[in-house]
Amino acid sequence: MKTTHLTNTRFADLGMESSLFKSLAEAGFEYCTPIQEKAIPLLLDGQDVAGQAQTGTGKTLAFLVGIFNDLLTLEPIEGRQLNEPRTLILAPTRELAVQIHKEAEMLNKYTNFRIGLVFGGTGYQSQRDYLQKGVDILIGTTGRIIDYYKQGAFGLDAIDSVVLDEADRMFDLGFIKDIRYLFRRMPEGDDRLNMLFSATLSHRVMELAYEHMNSPTQVTIEPEKVTVDSISEQLFYPSNKEKIPLLLGLMARDKPERSIVFTNTKRDAEKVWGYLVANDIEAGILTGDIAQTKRLKLLDELTESKIEVLIATDVAARGLHIPAVSHVYNYDLPDDREDYVHRIGRTGRAGASGEAISFACEDNAFNLPQIEDYIGHSLPLMQVEDDLLAKDIKPAKIIKRSPRPNRGRPGGKHSSNRNKQHRKY
Ligand code: AMP
Repeated sequence: MKTTHLTNTRFADLGMESSLFKSLAEAGFEYCTPIQEKAIPLLLDGQDVAGQAQTGTGKTLAFLVGIFNDLLTLEPIEGRQLNEPRTLILAPTRELAVQIHKEAEMLNKYTNFRIGLVFGGTGYQSQRDYLQKGVDILIGTTGRIIDYYKQGAFGLDAIDSVVLDEADRMFDLGFIKDIRYLFRRMPEGDDRLNMLFSATLSHRVMELAYEHMNSPTQVTIEPEKVTVDSISEQLFYPSNKEKIPLLLGLMARDKPERSIVFTNTKRDAEKVWGYLVANDIEAGILTGDIAQTKRLKLLDELTESKIEVLIATDVAARGLHIPAVSHVYNYDLPDDREDYVHRIGRTGRAGASGEAISFACEDNAFNLPQIEDYIGHSLPLMQVEDDLLAKDIKPAKIIKRSPRPNRGRPGGKHSSNRNKQHRKY
């Protein structure tokens, strides 16, 4: 891993509790990333933060350090009940929630906080049981959290700190009403440490921040650096019928260790999967209808190199956390320019180098100007040379249908609100 993305600021010099920088150092983290260097001092000072940071910048450890330090240095709200967490971390997808939980457990090495993880699609009773026994930090996806809250499985009256991760995704996925519902049931905004992270601090995100946070300080990376420096980008203009041969040809040339192919539609994802598998490439497919337990399994298979390629649509891939993806292929240029940034942010993480290769085909080349305008540079153009196109391609395998995912149960009664205690920082 290159270290150019790291600053010269050490975690140990920021004034956090020593148990925290000890666990960080033992996990190999000594120097801060830029977002950590900016956000952690503010959080240690008790200031709310609205951070513009894409996945891969180290934002998770930034907010976790803020939370842990808060938990270690401040007394819980008086009268806190066992099933009232002190921290709530909301993530848009289960994969992101799982990743946050992993990093929180790493940071918890010398502290003894109970950390709960809840997400839909699996473990309904076991997650609920764990939660009811009491957690200090609750990490989860919005739907399952609201479900348990409405049943009275836990309360929000003792919340000291709250994180809204990937806030822009929360809007896209339609969770904002639910998030507002949860915020309104916590102690007042100025009695909590509030953190919000988002790939873009758009108008709607900042409106939410001003509504529920206490004059947050905005921490932004420079706008011209929307994409990560360590990613090398390439653009091809294939005709529609050259797309599959070009993808197979590029994969034969690049031999990517671990890659993701993004498509705009489920139909194209299935088509690409069919061709890759038929042509001897170990590939998995992640579309919105893939059964939820299978999603985590698929990610594990990619992480453990049991499959080389994951084919995904944007909706299915939101919040995915896969370490060291060497190549991202945009089989289609995304319709939403922010999705381009999200997609290519899957590679080049934490300073590792990565390749992002995009196809501007007949159907979506018109998306290019808005993407280039947004990222502030043109994508380097490559020629579709004949020897790059794979020959003798075997016909696509037809996909087998997965069963429909099992949705969670509807909620029950509200938990009661008790008088709020004011906090001092
Ligand atoms: P995130 O943006 O939170 O998804 O983090 C992306 C990756 O960067 C994760 O795999 C982290 O473990 C890693 N990371 C976070 N902070 C640091 C750091 N200070 N030094 C090296 N790697 C880091």
